[in-house]
Amino acid sequence: MDRNAARDLPPELVLPLASGAPWWYWLGGRPALDLVNTRRERWNREVETLVTPEDLAQWLAAAGIVERAPARIPHSDLLEARELREAIDALTTACVGGTPVPAAAVALVDRWIARAGTRPALRCGPDGLPELAERGPADSPRRALGEIALDAARMLGTPEQRARVRVCGAADCSARFYDRSPAGRRRWCSMETCGNVAKARRHRARRQDNDREQADPGLRPSPAPSRGPRGAV
Ligand SMILES: [Zn+2]
Repeated sequence: MDRNAARDLPPELVLPLASGAPWWYWLGGRPALDLVNTRRERWNREVETLVTPEDLAQWLAAAGIVERAPARIPHSDLLEARELREAIDALTTACVGGTPVPAAAVALVDRWIARAGTRPALRCGPDGLPELAERGPADSPRRALGEIALDAARMLGTPEQRARVRVCGAADCSARFYDRSPAGRRRWCSMETCGNVAKARRHRARRQDNDREQADPGLRPSPAPSRGPRGAV
């Protein structure tokens, strides 16, 4: 599927999914928000796309957090990954909505970021001599999740970055994204999907206004419409 499509869950989808992989998308702009977006249709059916431990392993690789999907992830790690995801989302929506952040979510992300960072490793070098190296996050799915928590902490814990976090302005889209536009006024997760739908809706509303005016020439033109929705979503 299109890596950047967020509005395409068919109504006839059989839930719960056997695997969420076909429904992942990558327009969050950073790993923490891509993880949050693995819970889809938050406005409606709350569709889980990290269904199995294999899903989590594949997702970490697809997201570029690890080079290769970890061979085996315990089921408890999957549950903890979902818990981390929901804590990041609780912080994200509180920041976007301008409400105080839940302390439990802060504490949970704080515990995860302690697992981020590199660890030393000693290997046999190509010349047959020992070589000091670094373990990659692939060595531990939990460290990979720690890296995502660290991304969330950097994003939400600094005023400049926090101001760029958005929830898509469409009522029927729950995509979270990081606004990297120069002006910082992006409202839609994607112009190809939600932005276009909003544009078409505005166009239809304008046409209906015009039709009504033509049907009743005595109708006074309505005051100038506002220039579309404003502000952060
Ligand atoms: Zn959207």
